[in-house]
Amino acid sequence: MDALQDLLTNLVPIVQILGILIGAYLVLIWAASVLWAYRDIRRRSEDVSVQVLAVSLVLLLPFAGIPLHLILRPPQTLAERYERELEQEYLRRDIEEKYVCPECQRPIEPDFILCPHCQTALRRHCDACHRVIDLTWSICPYCGTDGAHASRQAPTIPATSYPALQRAEEISRS
Ligand SMILES: [Zn+2]
Ligand SMILES: [Zn+2]
Repeated sequence: MDALQDLLTNLVPIVQILGILIGAYLVLIWAASVLWAYRDIRRRSEDVSVQVLAVSLVLLLPFAGIPLHLILRPPQTLAERYERELEQEYLRRDIEEKYVCPECQRPIEPDFILCPHCQTALRRHCDACHRVIDLTWSICPYCGTDGAHASRQAPTIPATSYPALQRAEEISRS
């Protein structure tokens, strides 16, 4: 019986110390969770009342406050939201500006060579590979043909030679 009494009197301070350590550990985790919630909500909302609400939730409901905060917090951080808005803005601008006639501003398809509304030349066909290329490109990026060279040469043929050529063709056909 004495042995048991001795064991208990020895055990009590150990249990007390353990209790204090566990208590201190829990307080530390709780304080850290409050700090984390404070930092987390500041990244997600600029609204002071939302920030106070989130921090007091974790502060007043130790441990249970964190899962509640995870459920209730805004799903996106401010940086993520800003990034997404920027992305959507770029996307919208891209769609709006890319496929519109530069002359009449009416919608066109990206592979049109003429605007169907005002007949403005938008692109041209490569002389060699017949793919649609930009008017401003001096060379065809698909086959390497010097497009600027071809278009520079075209106007040097006198206009009067065309009827003559046609006539020559008609004669050779008949
Ligand atoms: Zn047009
Ligand atoms: Zn080509």
